[in-house]
Amino acid sequence: MSLPLAPIALPPLPEEPGPASVWPASTRTLRSGGTAIGGVPLAELADRFGTPCYVIDEDEVRNRARAWRSALPDADVAYAGKAFLCRAMLRWLDEEGLHLDVCSAGELELAAHTGFPADRIVLHGNAKSPADLATALRLGVGRIVIDSTGEIARLAALVPPGSRQRVLVRVVPGIAAGAHTAVRTGVEGQKFGLPIAGGEAEDAVVRVLGQPRLELVGLHCHLGSQIASVDPYVTAVRRLVGLLSRLRDVHGVTFPELDLGGGFAIPYRDGDQALDPRPYALRVTSELALRCAHADLPVPRLTVEPGRWIAGPAGVALYRVLAVKSTGDRLFVAVDGGMSDNPRPALYGVRYTVRLVGRASSVPERTMTVVGRHCEAGDVLAEDVALPGDIRPGDVLGVPASGAYHVSMASAYNLVGRPPVAAVSEGRARLLIRRETLEDLRVRDVGE
Ligand SMILES: *Cc1c(COP(=O)(O)O)cnc(C)c1O
Repeated sequence: MSLPLAPIALPPLPEEPGPASVWPASTRTLRSGGTAIGGVPLAELADRFGTPCYVIDEDEVRNRARAWRSALPDADVAYAGKAFLCRAMLRWLDEEGLHLDVCSAGELELAAHTGFPADRIVLHGNAKSPADLATALRLGVGRIVIDSTGEIARLAALVPPGSRQRVLVRVVPGIAAGAHTAVRTGVEGQKFGLPIAGGEAEDAVVRVLGQPRLELVGLHCHLGSQIASVDPYVTAVRRLVGLLSRLRDVHGVTFPELDLGGGFAIPYRDGDQALDPRPYALRVTSELALRCAHADLPVPRLTVEPGRWIAGPAGVALYRVLAVKSTGDRLFVAVDGGMSDNPRPALYGVRYTVRLVGRASSVPERTMTVVGRHCEAGDVLAEDVALPGDIRPGDVLGVPASGAYHVSMASAYNLVGRPPVAAVSEGRARLLIRRETLEDLRVRDVGE
């Protein structure tokens, strides 16, 4: 399926897209007025793979993985697979030397089937099923993150005699950070982890230490998502080292690892704040070194878990306009996808930016609202965006920052099949995930 597309001349951009651009670094405006990514015109992709279609820029993924690796050369960088996972993605991440977070037997099986080294895989989850745990042990995952007290004995009982499973304990440092309450996981009163403040974290550590088939290698925390400031992570280091210090004083134990989770912000619209890995690395590693020195603790090896930061900006969603209409004082542009392929507006009230990518237009821009095709008024992709006044059915629109938590969260709502994913790199495009067909949907429906 990897047919080379005709080579195209790419004129230089009038200005370099800055580091916080919402578009992949390879984005170019063509002489025709269309937009290309990875050297491939988006209009060609829309024709070849149909719409809606997700385009992922392989080099952007690799460069983003490298940005974390070079910012933290002594740490492990574990990509959070739930942001977006497929076999090609796993191969790129493996080649870039990343580790991988998974939170189900399904993600785990996909990774193992692709040949991703199991010892570089971490299994998370607040409610791991017996199948999740059995699969993790069978495939030999490197780490399992304990998320509740009840899970400790349950996991230990599944570990075969004579072997030991490495585990981390997920603690709640009591830090409110993140773009929406649905993604704030660093505070008490939500479902993840074991609070430090109430003593549950310490209690879990003691229980794990009492299980000879579990090897406790460190603590884990994950504060939330879309966090643009380094401050909450620095606070987390302080609180986690505080707990490490207490565990050493009271129980005589020290640990070689510390996993600070992910949640690093990306821009969805121009002007949005992003988290930069370099200042993060500088402040977090110096805080860790300082606090450990004060507490006379060995400095643990750090793990970070970027998901969205690596996949999000590498993806662009392509839609075709189906209808344009004025209602009240608003101009609506309806496209052939929406909340079935991107539930984030409906879940978190997120709004995107949109660009006409298939052709040039010299018609003055008007303010419009871009909506999806689904049967809910909340199915809104972009509100009050400026688009050329001659937008019409058949036009191809591109939505940037679509690489994370779209395809992985897509549904079959309204029995619209889930969209395909195509990779672009150096002027070539290839299909990674094919479109879900009506036949795919029909064969699951086995009753009468
Ligand atoms: C979701 C998740 C991540 C990644 O979050 P992003 O916001 O995509 O960076 C990392 N670690 C854990 C435990 C998670 O649940």
